Amino acid sequence: MGNAKKWAGTIDRILQLIYPPRCGFCDAVMPCGAEFLICEECAERAEAGKLDSQDLVQPVESELFRVFSAFPYSGAYRDAVARFKFEGRKGMAAELGQMMRRVTDSYVFREAMKDCEVFVPVPLHKGRQRLRGYNQALLLADVLGELYNKPVADCLKRVKRTSPMAKLSPEGRAKNIKDAFKVTQPEAVAAKSVMLIDDIFTTGATARECAAALKKGGAGRVCAFTFARA
Ligand SMILES: [Zn+2]
Repeated sequence: MGNAKKWAGTIDRILQLIYPPRCGFCDAVMPCGAEFLICEECAERAEAGKLDSQDLVQPVESELFRVFSAFPYSGAYRDAVARFKFEGRKGMAAELGQMMRRVTDSYVFREAMKDCEVFVPVPLHKGRQRLRGYNQALLLADVLGELYNKPVADCLKRVKRTSPMAKLSPEGRAKNIKDAFKVTQPEAVAAKSVMLIDDIFTTGATARECAAALKKGGAGRVCAFTFARA
């Protein structure tokens, strides 16, 4: 081990003592060097399906063929998404992705996955991505791409500056997001069955617009797979 690497490791350990890793679900302090950002208790509850109930399939009309969400957007799941997204806890992507993988063992989902040829993350606007430092949907897509052995194409772009959706009514959301996306690499999705990836599915306005843009860009069937659903 080089000296620089040794020092980096030492500094990392000192930083972990000052800012210990915390569970993304209940905020409990975790042991230094913890591999995943979920504590043993929360992991056990999630394994037993007791963090909350799950809501896997939500058929949606229009451009979106089907929506799969692993968990409800409430309680510990809601807290976990907020920490992942707004508190810079990028490392949680690995655990959230694994959780999505663990709960999605239904027939409908397996068939949709068999059919799916590429994962496409919902993009952030450039300015917002610069502020946040990362796109949480892309981090999730990368983890899921590995777990499901599917290619990931970051090929959607926001072409319109939109207001944060959380403050808007369902009608406001639909209007705000209309024509906001464009496919930047049509060859990545042309005639392909696409699985859109995002952290949460709320009114579906964003996912529907992404699906519309993907279809305009030549994609075949578009489904969506999110960590949580409101
Ligand atoms: Zn916990």
